[in-house]
Amino acid sequence: MAEEWKEGPAIGIDLGTTYSCVGVWQNDRVEIIVNDQGNRTTPSYVAFTENERLVGDAAKNQVARNPTNSIFDAKRLIGRRFGDPLVQNDINLWPFKVIEGSKDKPMIVVSYKGEDKQFAAEEISSMVLKKMREIAEAYLGKTVKNAVVTVPAYFNDAQRKATMDAGGIAGLNVMRILNEPTAAAIAYGLDNVGRIGKRNVLIFDLGGGTADISLLTVEDNSFEVKAVAGDTHLGGEDFDNRMVNHFVQIFKRWHKKDISGNARALRRLRTACERAKRILSSAIETAIEVDSLYDGIDFSSNITRAKFAELNMHLFRNSIELVEKCLTDAEMDKKSVHDVVLTGGSTRIPKVQQLLQDFFDGKELNRSINPDEAVAYGAAVQAAKLSGLGNERLRDIVLSDVTPLSLGVEVKGSDMSVVIPRNTAIPTKMKEFYSTAADNQTEVLISVYEGERARTLDNNWLGEFELQGIPAAPRGVAKLKVCFDIDANGILNVSAKEKTSGTSCKITITNHKARLSSEEINRMVREAEIFKAEDDERRERAKAKAALENFAYRMRNTINDKEKCAKLVPVQKKKIEAAVVQMIKWLDGIQLAEVVEFEEKLLGLKLICDPLIRAQNI
Ligand code: AMP
Repeated sequence: MAEEWKEGPAIGIDLGTTYSCVGVWQNDRVEIIVNDQGNRTTPSYVAFTENERLVGDAAKNQVARNPTNSIFDAKRLIGRRFGDPLVQNDINLWPFKVIEGSKDKPMIVVSYKGEDKQFAAEEISSMVLKKMREIAEAYLGKTVKNAVVTVPAYFNDAQRKATMDAGGIAGLNVMRILNEPTAAAIAYGLDNVGRIGKRNVLIFDLGGGTADISLLTVEDNSFEVKAVAGDTHLGGEDFDNRMVNHFVQIFKRWHKKDISGNARALRRLRTACERAKRILSSAIETAIEVDSLYDGIDFSSNITRAKFAELNMHLFRNSIELVEKCLTDAEMDKKSVHDVVLTGGSTRIPKVQQLLQDFFDGKELNRSINPDEAVAYGAAVQAAKLSGLGNERLRDIVLSDVTPLSLGVEVKGSDMSVVIPRNTAIPTKMKEFYSTAADNQTEVLISVYEGERARTLDNNWLGEFELQGIPAAPRGVAKLKVCFDIDANGILNVSAKEKTSGTSCKITITNHKARLSSEEINRMVREAEIFKAEDDERRERAKAKAALENFAYRMRNTINDKEKCAKLVPVQKKKIEAAVVQMIKWLDGIQLAEVVEFEEKLLGLKLICDPLIRAQNI
């Protein structure tokens, strides 16, 4: 890594499915940075219009007008294949279009400046990351190159690498991929300094798109993850979807019309459902009202907290099962858990809290950390630590994480032979010995998989390589040492060596079917630069337009002020009025012109107005 990367501030980014958050370590504490709208979290939305690209609040605010070109949920797609049933299921619910690209990669299709354009999920995520970077840069007044980015603990190798790629496209040096619940645990641990002693802490993180459970032992400055469990496809949006489907059925029953094919109607209904869901966390009943939802029909209905819970009970229970799995993996009894810490927006749902509390035999749940900011907080701590900043306490933090999925190779046709079992502490290096399956076999194909199933067919294929030059011998004689090496980011390297001949072969699992090639990443980096240039240009044009508009309206106010322009003779007043009216008419009729055109027009208007106004000392 080039030294220059290490310079400058390092930020922590919680790249969420629905919202993202950025923090930085400053003056011995974490600062969660507000965006240009004054918000501490920023929607993970990117929208494309006839003349611009919008990211964050600006993108989310125009969703109802432009549903097919407003992209959200990129995190649900990242590192996944188009053929993945979960992807197929999501596609049916999204108002935007996703098609199959090369190598089974899902590609998002939007209309931008009148043309169809395709984006990989990594590109959309990179735009959100870049926005978070800009928010931090605006606050710090410095260029930011280094970041720790968080991912659900249950993200697999492909999803982690794709997230790193997104960081690279955004021009960031991703110092570390950190697991979200571990980040939340850091926030919890640091905030409870000195008073917690050695404690087993279960972090229950239920967000917009993912459920993440982590069990840690926290003692002083040591954070040791014992086990993780999770579902990268379980969260608030699934609860919204259930409610949307419920109301689609009701609409069908009442009006004999199916709105499920209408992207705009679904989007508007979804927004109303999400709002209702939030209200149901504090009220026991709420109304859903959407004007002119479909075919001019106004829709209005009610939903109770109990009905909402019933619609989602299956999903809520799934999240509790993950807790059980996590405890089993850690070989820990639920009675040994000292703290159950809630994080993620969906843990505000009363039924989820109740199920969790019941599971822990009535134990009080801990809501002391801010669910929206805890992950970015922990990421910012880790970023400061990795860049050697921060106080002594920060430097003393020891963090040990685990790998969420078992990793292994394919043997005997389709059996999974595990080399690194899930929930092994990382970084780690483990080896396993194999042999040839046939007489005089001189090469073997080593296929690498992740997952918990006995057959590789049911697991996730990561990549493969061939070990050649094995000396001819009867089957079973050659000794092949296969070595798996996972780094602190949870990313895997595999190597193989034939013991007698010393033939060796090594791969970083980069030949994922759906992973971007370095050429593709370079192209996306170039495109991101073009986007930035376009954004800058647009900002300049908007600035020039605002300057002209301000001047024209100021002049109009001046001539409308009888007292102020009493000294002007009618012919002078008329001259200014005519020029101002003409300019305002022109401004109203255009979207955006070139900067020079605004500047020339401003100059022209000033040439007419200034001499008259100044001469009269107005
Ligand atoms: P996160 O990914 O942690 O930012 O969580 C976002 C999710 O939390 C979204 O699905 C929100 O709809 C959901 N959420 C936020 N506030 C509430 C609330 N008061 N009740 C229920 N869900 C909420």
